[in-house]
Amino acid sequence: MLNDDPRRKHTVLIIDDSPINIEHLAQVLKQDYNIKVANSGPSGLQVARQQRPDLILLDIVMPEMDGYKVCRNLKADDATRKIPIIFITTKNETEDETRGLSIGAVDYITKPFRGPIVKARVKTHIQLKHNSDLLEKLALIDGLTNLPNRRRFEQILKREWGRSRRAQKPLSLIMLDIDHFKEFNDHYGHLAGDGCLNRVAQALTVPLKRPADSIFRFGGEEFIAVLPETDHAVAMKLAEELRVQVSKLLITHAYNNSNSPYISISLGVSTTVPNSRNSPTELLESADRLLYSAKNAGRNCIKGAVMSTGITNTPDPQ
Ligand code: GH3
Ligand code: MG
Ligand code: MG
Repeated sequence: MLNDDPRRKHTVLIIDDSPINIEHLAQVLKQDYNIKVANSGPSGLQVARQQRPDLILLDIVMPEMDGYKVCRNLKADDATRKIPIIFITTKNETEDETRGLSIGAVDYITKPFRGPIVKARVKTHIQLKHNSDLLEKLALIDGLTNLPNRRRFEQILKREWGRSRRAQKPLSLIMLDIDHFKEFNDHYGHLAGDGCLNRVAQALTVPLKRPADSIFRFGGEEFIAVLPETDHAVAMKLAEELRVQVSKLLITHAYNNSNSPYISISLGVSTTVPNSRNSPTELLESADRLLYSAKNAGRNCIKGAVMSTGITNTPDPQ
């Protein structure tokens, strides 16, 4: 997830109706940045959507669509909402500047501008944006395993629930938990426990080959997979692959009171076609109950069910 290399050359989009201004700004910035230009508001919006620049320098007085309107449009569109905008304009009244900043611009530079000042401000705002992106990403990643965390799981479940409901396609969850992990920690130490969690986490990513499938650290030694457009039979097969993948790690756990001398997992698999009578929380609760049944059935095994209404589970024929 963290693939934004801070050393890459960033892209700055200049939106200005005056070719001389564009030329002047480009001269100042072209050594350090990739420069894209647009000479009107509408074309600026189009380039911003297509190219996703790292920062936009935006003129205010332009025919057809002024900079304020361009800014509002950029802020209203999810694709461009987070791009920092610096107004660069001859309008130098306090109220112009206040207005620009109040609609979401990060800075305001008046013309005639001085090259080094523009350069310094562009650099600062690109750095700030990079830092805030990084924080946002880190907030969604589990530090021990590098898997996406529970907060990310909640976002993805909500998104996939909506998608599956609109498409009337099945959505499956696999909830899983390491067996007798407390015993493992107690006998081999907490650090060995951390190492084990990490290896299990990496093993769990192996069977999930479709780009839409994802696995999260739900908390402690519990993990959860979200499988969009996956019917129950396929989800059960995947669950078995996950179970086998972890058992193949052959991590010795002499105190595993399940049927294995190695680290093992128990899994609960729940599937539904989302509708207005069931909810993501019910699907999650259903997977959790099934995991609990797998624990009660001796661990190192899988229990699954199709959730029809969200209240009743239809157990698989055993
Ligand atoms: P069960 O088979 O019923 O799941 O038994 P269990 O012992 O695995 O379950 P329990 O919930 O009693 O214990 C979970 C253990 O997981 C206790 C806790 O110390 C350990 N654990 C949770 N998070 C971490 C972690 O980040 N690192 C380590 N080393 N241990 C963790
Ligand atoms: Mg456990
Ligand atoms: Mg647990």
